[in-house]
Amino acid sequence: NEELLINSEKLYVAGQLAAGIAHEIRNPLTSLKGFLHLIGSGRKEASYYHIMNSELDRIEGIVRELLMVAKPQVYELSYYDVRNMIRDTVTLLESQAILHSVSIEADYGKEPLWVYGVENQIKQVFINVIKNAIEAMIDGGAIRVGLSREDDSVRIRITDEGPGIDQEQLAKMGQPFYTTKEKGTGLGLMVSYKIVDNHDGRIHVSSRLGIGTSFEIRFPFRYPETVAAMNGS
Ligand code: ADP
Ligand code: MG
Repeated sequence: NEELLINSEKLYVAGQLAAGIAHEIRNPLTSLKGFLHLIGSGRKEASYYHIMNSELDRIEGIVRELLMVAKPQVYELSYYDVRNMIRDTVTLLESQAILHSVSIEADYGKEPLWVYGVENQIKQVFINVIKNAIEAMIDGGAIRVGLSREDDSVRIRITDEGPGIDQEQLAKMGQPFYTTKEKGTGLGLMVSYKIVDNHDGRIHVSSRLGIGTSFEIRFPFRYPETVAAMNGS
Protein backbone atom coordinates (compact mmCIF):
# COMPACT_ATOMS: atom_id res chain seq x y z
CA ASN A 1 0.00 0.00 0.00
CA GLU A 2 2.74 2.37 0.97
CA GLU A 3 4.60 1.44 -2.19
CA LEU A 4 1.50 2.19 -4.22
CA LEU A 5 1.25 5.54 -2.54
CA ILE A 6 4.88 6.33 -3.28
CA ASN A 7 4.43 5.24 -6.89
CA SER A 8 1.36 7.37 -7.41
CA GLU A 9 3.21 10.30 -5.89
CA LYS A 10 6.10 9.71 -8.28
CA LEU A 11 3.67 9.58 -11.17
CA TYR A 12 2.12 12.81 -10.00
CA VAL A 13 5.50 14.53 -9.85
CA ALA A 14 6.46 13.13 -13.26
CA GLY A 15 3.17 14.35 -14.67
CA GLN A 16 3.67 17.81 -13.25
CA LEU A 17 7.20 17.94 -14.60
CA ALA A 18 6.07 16.80 -18.04
CA ALA A 19 3.35 19.46 -18.07
CA GLY A 20 5.90 22.06 -17.05
CA ILE A 21 8.39 21.02 -19.72
CA ALA A 22 5.70 21.01 -22.40
CA HIS A 23 4.63 24.49 -21.38
CA GLU A 24 8.14 25.90 -21.17
CA ILE A 25 9.10 24.56 -24.56
CA ARG A 26 5.85 25.47 -26.26
CA ASN A 27 6.25 29.18 -25.54
CA PRO A 28 9.53 29.65 -27.41
CA LEU A 29 8.31 27.29 -30.15
CA THR A 30 5.19 29.37 -30.70
CA SER A 31 7.27 32.48 -30.95
CA LEU A 32 9.73 30.79 -33.35
CA LYS A 33 6.85 29.78 -35.60
CA GLY A 34 5.53 33.30 -35.57
CA PHE A 35 8.82 34.77 -36.67
CA LEU A 36 9.33 32.10 -39.32
CA HIS A 37 5.94 33.04 -40.66
CA LEU A 38 6.93 36.72 -40.82
CA ILE A 39 10.19 35.90 -42.58
CA GLY A 40 8.32 33.60 -44.96
CA SER A 41 6.02 36.44 -45.92
CA GLY A 42 9.00 38.51 -46.94
CA ARG A 43 9.71 40.56 -43.82
CA LYS A 44 13.29 40.17 -42.77
CA GLU A 45 14.65 42.11 -39.86
CA ALA A 46 17.82 41.58 -37.89
CA SER A 47 15.88 41.75 -34.63
CA TYR A 48 13.86 38.68 -35.66
CA TYR A 49 17.02 36.63 -35.86
CA HIS A 50 18.09 37.92 -32.48
CA ILE A 51 14.86 36.90 -30.83
CA MET A 52 14.74 33.57 -32.61
CA ASN A 53 18.26 32.87 -31.49
CA SER A 54 17.48 33.58 -27.87
CA GLU A 55 14.33 31.45 -28.02
CA LEU A 56 16.44 28.58 -29.35
CA ASP A 57 18.94 29.20 -26.54
CA ARG A 58 16.07 28.86 -24.10
CA ILE A 59 15.01 25.51 -25.44
CA GLU A 60 18.61 24.37 -25.49
CA GLY A 61 19.07 25.45 -21.85
CA ILE A 62 15.98 23.55 -20.73
CA VAL A 63 17.08 20.40 -22.52
CA ARG A 64 20.64 20.65 -21.18
CA GLU A 65 19.51 20.95 -17.56
CA LEU A 66 16.93 18.19 -17.90
CA LEU A 67 19.59 15.85 -19.22
CA MET A 68 21.34 16.29 -15.88
CA VAL A 69 18.46 14.63 -14.06
CA ALA A 70 17.70 12.10 -16.74
CA LYS A 71 19.47 8.87 -16.02
CA PRO A 72 21.65 7.08 -16.66
CA GLN A 73 24.74 8.67 -18.06
CA VAL A 74 27.88 6.68 -17.55
CA TYR A 75 29.22 7.81 -14.27
CA GLU A 76 31.78 6.69 -11.82
CA LEU A 77 31.54 6.92 -8.06
CA SER A 78 34.71 7.87 -6.30
CA TYR A 79 36.19 9.81 -3.39
CA TYR A 80 36.86 13.50 -3.86
CA ASP A 81 38.27 16.30 -1.79
CA VAL A 82 35.61 19.00 -1.95
CA ARG A 83 38.34 21.66 -1.77
CA ASN A 84 39.54 20.63 -5.24
CA MET A 85 36.02 20.67 -6.61
CA ILE A 86 35.46 24.18 -5.28
CA ARG A 87 38.80 25.32 -6.72
CA ASP A 88 37.79 24.01 -10.14
CA THR A 89 34.36 25.61 -9.87
CA VAL A 90 35.79 28.99 -8.88
CA THR A 91 38.24 28.86 -11.80
CA LEU A 92 35.41 27.98 -14.15
CA LEU A 93 33.21 30.87 -13.00
CA GLU A 94 35.99 33.46 -12.57
CA SER A 95 35.47 35.28 -15.86
CA GLN A 96 31.71 35.43 -15.40
CA ALA A 97 32.21 36.79 -11.89
CA ILE A 98 34.59 39.50 -13.09
CA LEU A 99 32.08 40.47 -15.77
CA HIS A 100 29.54 41.07 -12.98
CA SER A 101 32.05 42.89 -10.71
CA VAL A 102 31.83 40.01 -8.30
CA SER A 103 34.74 38.56 -6.35
CA ILE A 104 34.74 35.02 -5.03
CA GLU A 105 36.61 34.53 -1.78
CA ALA A 106 37.09 30.99 -0.64
CA ASP A 107 38.33 29.73 2.69
CA TYR A 108 39.50 26.19 2.07
CA GLY A 109 40.33 25.26 5.63
CA LYS A 110 43.25 23.02 6.48
CA GLU A 111 42.16 19.43 6.16
CA PRO A 112 41.01 17.31 3.23
CA LEU A 113 37.23 17.21 2.99
CA TRP A 114 36.41 13.84 1.52
CA VAL A 115 33.09 13.05 -0.06
CA TYR A 116 31.94 10.10 -2.12
CA GLY A 117 29.99 10.49 -5.31
CA VAL A 118 29.86 11.53 -8.94
CA GLU A 119 32.34 14.32 -9.59
CA ASN A 120 30.52 16.16 -12.35
CA GLN A 121 27.22 16.08 -10.53
CA ILE A 122 28.62 17.45 -7.29
CA LYS A 123 30.49 20.15 -9.20
CA GLN A 124 27.24 20.99 -11.00
CA VAL A 125 25.64 21.79 -7.65
CA PHE A 126 28.43 24.23 -6.78
CA ILE A 127 28.28 25.76 -10.26
CA ASN A 128 24.49 26.25 -10.07
CA VAL A 129 24.54 27.82 -6.61
CA ILE A 130 27.52 30.11 -7.24
CA LYS A 131 26.11 31.14 -10.64
CA ASN A 132 22.85 32.11 -8.97
CA ALA A 133 24.82 34.14 -6.43
CA ILE A 134 26.68 35.97 -9.20
CA GLU A 135 23.45 36.63 -11.08
CA ALA A 136 21.75 37.90 -7.91
CA MET A 137 24.37 40.58 -7.29
CA ILE A 138 23.42 43.09 -9.93
CA ASP A 139 25.60 45.76 -8.32
CA GLY A 140 28.55 43.44 -7.78
CA GLY A 141 30.00 42.44 -4.44
CA ALA A 142 31.60 39.43 -2.84
CA ILE A 143 30.68 35.77 -2.65
CA ARG A 144 32.19 33.97 0.30
CA VAL A 145 32.70 30.25 0.20
CA GLY A 146 33.48 28.58 3.49
CA LEU A 147 34.48 24.95 3.78
CA SER A 148 34.67 22.97 6.96
CA ARG A 149 34.23 19.58 8.47
CA GLU A 150 31.64 19.06 11.15
CA ASP A 151 31.64 15.65 12.75
CA ASP A 152 30.42 13.32 10.06
CA SER A 153 29.71 15.89 7.42
CA VAL A 154 31.44 18.26 5.07
CA ARG A 155 29.89 21.69 5.07
CA ILE A 156 30.04 24.10 2.16
CA ARG A 157 28.60 27.52 2.82
CA ILE A 158 28.10 29.91 -0.08
CA THR A 159 27.08 33.41 0.94
CA ASP A 160 26.26 36.32 -1.35
CA GLU A 161 25.55 40.01 -0.96
CA GLY A 162 22.53 39.96 -3.23
CA PRO A 163 19.05 41.35 -2.52
CA GLY A 164 17.96 38.30 -0.55
CA ILE A 165 14.84 36.19 -0.99
CA ASP A 166 11.52 36.67 0.77
CA GLN A 167 9.59 33.84 2.44
CA GLU A 168 7.17 33.41 -0.42
CA GLN A 169 9.96 33.07 -2.99
CA LEU A 170 11.97 30.86 -0.68
CA ALA A 171 9.14 28.33 -0.65
CA LYS A 172 9.09 28.18 -4.45
CA MET A 173 12.79 27.70 -4.97
CA GLY A 174 13.66 24.30 -6.33
CA GLN A 175 10.29 23.85 -7.95
CA PRO A 176 10.74 23.07 -11.63
CA PHE A 177 10.61 26.17 -13.83
CA TYR A 178 10.40 28.62 -10.96
CA THR A 179 12.49 31.55 -12.11
CA THR A 180 12.50 35.31 -11.66
CA LYS A 181 14.99 35.81 -14.49
CA GLU A 182 14.18 36.79 -18.03
CA LYS A 183 16.56 34.18 -19.38
CA GLY A 184 16.28 31.70 -16.52
CA THR A 185 15.25 28.08 -16.86
CA GLY A 186 14.18 27.60 -13.25
CA LEU A 187 15.82 24.18 -13.29
CA GLY A 188 19.21 24.81 -11.68
CA LEU A 189 18.07 24.42 -8.09
CA MET A 190 15.74 21.53 -8.80
CA VAL A 191 18.65 19.67 -10.38
CA SER A 192 20.94 20.65 -7.50
CA TYR A 193 18.50 19.52 -4.81
CA LYS A 194 18.08 16.21 -6.57
CA ILE A 195 21.84 15.64 -6.89
CA VAL A 196 22.44 16.51 -3.24
CA ASP A 197 19.62 14.20 -2.20
CA ASN A 198 21.09 11.37 -4.30
CA HIS A 199 24.35 11.85 -2.42
CA ASP A 200 22.67 11.69 1.00
CA GLY A 201 23.36 15.38 1.46
CA ARG A 202 21.29 18.35 2.60
CA ILE A 203 20.79 21.91 1.41
CA HIS A 204 19.63 24.67 3.66
CA VAL A 205 18.93 28.20 2.46
CA SER A 206 18.78 31.21 4.70
CA SER A 207 18.28 34.73 3.50
CA ARG A 208 17.88 38.25 4.77
CA LEU A 209 16.32 40.91 2.58
CA GLY A 210 18.79 43.62 1.69
CA ILE A 211 21.69 41.66 3.14
CA GLY A 212 22.12 38.48 1.20
CA THR A 213 21.56 34.79 0.89
CA SER A 214 23.44 31.83 2.23
CA PHE A 215 23.32 28.29 0.85
CA GLU A 216 24.57 25.65 3.21
CA ILE A 217 25.28 22.33 1.57
CA ARG A 218 26.27 19.24 3.51
CA PHE A 219 27.59 15.93 2.30
CA PRO A 220 28.53 12.94 4.43
CA PHE A 221 32.27 12.92 5.15
CA ARG A 222 33.57 9.72 3.54
CA TYR A 223 37.15 8.79 4.22
CA PRO A 224 38.62 7.01 1.18
CA GLU A 225 38.95 3.30 1.83
CA THR A 226 42.35 3.13 0.17
CA VAL A 227 43.77 5.86 2.40
CA ALA A 228 42.16 4.25 5.45
CA ALA A 229 43.75 0.91 4.53
CA MET A 230 47.18 2.53 4.17
CA ASN A 231 46.89 4.06 7.61
CA GLY A 232 45.94 0.68 8.98
CA SER A 233 42.61 1.94 10.29
P1 ADP B 1 17.34 30.18 -12.71
O1 ADP B 1 18.70 30.56 -12.21
O2 ADP B 1 17.36 29.66 -14.11
O3 ADP B 1 16.31 31.24 -12.49
P2 ADP B 1 17.35 28.39 -10.44
O4 ADP B 1 16.61 27.13 -10.14
O5 ADP B 1 18.84 28.31 -10.44
O6 ADP B 1 16.83 28.91 -11.85
O7 ADP B 1 16.90 29.51 -9.41
C1 ADP B 1 15.52 29.75 -9.24
C2 ADP B 1 15.26 31.13 -8.66
O8 ADP B 1 15.70 31.19 -7.30
C3 ADP B 1 15.99 32.27 -9.34
O9 ADP B 1 15.32 32.72 -10.51
C4 ADP B 1 16.00 33.32 -8.24
O10 ADP B 1 14.77 34.01 -8.20
C5 ADP B 1 16.09 32.50 -6.98
N1 ADP B 1 17.48 32.48 -6.44
C6 ADP B 1 18.33 31.45 -6.48
N2 ADP B 1 19.50 31.74 -5.89
C7 ADP B 1 19.39 33.03 -5.45
C8 ADP B 1 20.26 33.93 -4.74
N3 ADP B 1 21.52 33.57 -4.38
N4 ADP B 1 19.78 35.17 -4.45
C9 ADP B 1 18.54 35.53 -4.81
N5 ADP B 1 17.67 34.73 -5.48
C10 ADP B 1 18.08 33.49 -5.80
MG1 MG C 1 20.28 29.22 -11.81
